Amino acid sequence: MKKISCVGAGFTGAVIANKLANLGYQVTVFDTRNHLAGNCHTERDSATDVMVHVYGPHIFHTSNEIVWNYIQQFDEFMPFINRVKALYNERVYSLPINLMTINAFFGKTLSPKTAAEFMETLGDKSIVDPQTFEDQALRFVGKDLYEAFFKGYTQKQWGLHPSELPASILKRLPVRFNYDDNYYASKFQGIPKNGYSYIVEKMLDHSNITVRLNTPFKREMADSYDHVFYSGPIDAWFSYGEGRLGYRTLDFEVERHEGDYQGNAVINYCNETVPYTRISEHKHFAPWEQHEKTLIYKEYSRLCDEGDTPYYPIRLVKDKSLLTRYVELAKNENNITFVGRLGTYRYLDMHVTIAEAMEVAELYVNAQSNLLKMPAFVVDPLV
Ligand code: FAD
Ligand code: UDP
Repeated sequence: MKKISCVGAGFTGAVIANKLANLGYQVTVFDTRNHLAGNCHTERDSATDVMVHVYGPHIFHTSNEIVWNYIQQFDEFMPFINRVKALYNERVYSLPINLMTINAFFGKTLSPKTAAEFMETLGDKSIVDPQTFEDQALRFVGKDLYEAFFKGYTQKQWGLHPSELPASILKRLPVRFNYDDNYYASKFQGIPKNGYSYIVEKMLDHSNITVRLNTPFKREMADSYDHVFYSGPIDAWFSYGEGRLGYRTLDFEVERHEGDYQGNAVINYCNETVPYTRISEHKHFAPWEQHEKTLIYKEYSRLCDEGDTPYYPIRLVKDKSLLTRYVELAKNENNITFVGRLGTYRYLDMHVTIAEAMEVAELYVNAQSNLLKMPAFVVDPLV
């Protein structure tokens, strides 16, 4: 049977390994880090006993029933709705922008109908086809809400003025004219009872899978495998020969306290004068657990340097032209498929990561049975 290498033990590598191992392939999973689950890694903090989302808060949400059914084989998902609060000028608001936010911000008691009409009067109608983050915000929520909730936060998060960022970033957030404060609009939402690393451990617990942690996969190792699924950074595979793709990285300032620190899982700090973007209090991601102590993360965003963990692909025009060159190089390689958020340089939520990894595994099996060449990409990274 064919020998497969999955580079990266995040959800991408783990799902591909799990699917192929179940079909009899021999899979070796490599990760440079000393733990499973990539950026979704969770572990219990010994001082507080709280389950920590080590690389930042992760809430599982999806409308894809296939993904939802698949993931639940590996752990029980506990009900969790992400209800984010935002601080601006010493006042607390509800996010994403909903009727509570609009009424509190403008000191009104609007209904869904009158709020929609009111918001229409706030939007800048001269902006017909918004291309930038700023134009998208000005068009749909107007200057006051934009300056309160988006301008400062986005400047801190991306290190760029919102007029330099694409509208697509803001399109991730809804605006609602009712009191629904669920941050996500997905059909299913929850947090795994035993954490994400437990799920990945279960996925990889198979006699056909060998896991090698603390082991960077080098290009010359590829010859020992029939196929490589590479979920590391695409520019790293080519030794950054064309230059480095831009990423944002995060620094977390960890604090431990007694009791309840902020009464909610996530609070965003929208003023630019506050240096962090948000505070997450990890025990509130597991409301079914009881803890007397608590652990919080203050989250700071900055440009990713050599040696930092890449988090958010920036994907500005210069990054995209660099990516085009790496994609061309990748297409000339043999027996390797570039996968996941780093392999394709795209921001991917967990459910999309899992859906794509399932598709990649199926495509590989199909290519094998029909003697077809497995492509370098299953999803076009340039779209
Ligand atoms: P990763 O998790 O990054 O895994 C890649 C792995 O490859 C890493 O462990 C790395 O060490 C390893 N690797 C790289 N190069 C090599 C090499 N040469 N040899 C060996 N190993 C290598 N998604 C949600 O759905 N909900 C959320 O709430 C959410 N919150 C997020 C919050 C933050 C701050 C961030 C940054 C992301 C969030 N996400 C969230 C997205 C989620 O983290 C990703 O969907 C997921 O991590 C992608 O999995 P992956 O396997 O593709 O990549
Ligand atoms: N955003 C903002 N203010 C907020 C929350 C989000 O301006 O309080 C902007 C910010 O630019 C962010 C984008 O909206 O990158 C998308 O928000 P999301 O919550 O999806 O960001 P992520 O989950 O990536 O941190």
